[in-house]
Amino acid sequence: MAYDVVIVGGGPAGLTAGIYARTRKLSTLILEAQAVGGQLSWLYPTKSVYDYPSHIAIEGKELGDLFVVHARESGAEIAHEEVVDLKRLKSGFRLTTKSGAAYEAKTILLAMGMGLFEPKRLGIPGEAEFEGRGVEYRVRDRHEYKDRRVLVVGGGDSALEIALEIVASAQQVILVHRRGEFRAMEKNVEAVLKSPVKVLYNAEVTFIEGDDRVRRAVVYDNRTLKKSQFEIDGVLVNIGFEPKSTPLPRWGIELEGERLIKVKADMSTSVEGIYACGDIVSYPGKDKRIVTACGEAVTAIMSVYKHLRSPYWA
Ligand code: NAP
Repeated sequence: MAYDVVIVGGGPAGLTAGIYARTRKLSTLILEAQAVGGQLSWLYPTKSVYDYPSHIAIEGKELGDLFVVHARESGAEIAHEEVVDLKRLKSGFRLTTKSGAAYEAKTILLAMGMGLFEPKRLGIPGEAEFEGRGVEYRVRDRHEYKDRRVLVVGGGDSALEIALEIVASAQQVILVHRRGEFRAMEKNVEAVLKSPVKVLYNAEVTFIEGDDRVRRAVVYDNRTLKKSQFEIDGVLVNIGFEPKSTPLPRWGIELEGERLIKVKADMSTSVEGIYACGDIVSYPGKDKRIVTACGEAVTAIMSVYKHLRSPYWA
């Protein structure tokens, strides 16, 4: 059986598309490689989101779970699969996944966000040795940091928001940034400077030590070259993310660079029958927000619907 639409990616964009596809009773399958709910559930499970209208503040996983429940309730099927190949058939497409499964679709909607990614590493002694034993790259549950002494590394929004997320319950949070100023949003910088987070500017972690888990770290001041040792329970590294390899260049769709899909205002791509929405698309004025991704998803599904009902809706 060929689905009316197969949506690749189960974040807010893909799940919203699933919900709207079902309002038109399109048979709908959503394929997600990492975590349904997307970045919200995987990267920020216990961090609050403040810019999703109708929720003044809501934790990432809770918001992600609400999207998933809504999509399931609406009748969209969801499968945990990583799509590795996309082939055009005489009518429609065939998607093959890493597990070897194949799905046929009349139309495809690509909503893979920033794709599969992994955190950037500092590459310092002790980092790999203690990964999972005090060295972490995301906060799975902020309550794990209760009464802990933690070094947070980085100067972007991720590092500052993570420091703010754990500071209320941690014993001490020290933010280590290699420059004399942050690149994060002013709102986050102001909140950190008003909070009990201790900030070390022009500072770099050079060594992590411990026994069964992290016990201390050495930080040096890159202006004075003075070294300081901190007795700590954990190091949270937040210096950005690196994308893993992407199959997009093999799929014959016009791209912007290697990882972004060029779309028109109706969210159609250069290949008839393939649409895209969310963080993976590129168009003039594109802004990466949850709400804009959801809006693009609705536009994309309307285009899918018109394509399927053509010429009635042409
Ligand atoms: P980012 O903005 O790229 O910041 C990475 C930080 O890590 C920078 O301060 C950088 O230092 C530092 N860094 C990089 N490599 C390092 C190294 N080897 N050693 C020490 N420090 C290193 O990454 P991000 O914070 O993950 O944010 C990514 C994007 O998502 C940004 O556009 C951000 O605004 C956005 N974001 C938005 C929100 C929100 O809207 N609430 C939340 C999180 C993230 P330098 O400054 O010296 O380069």
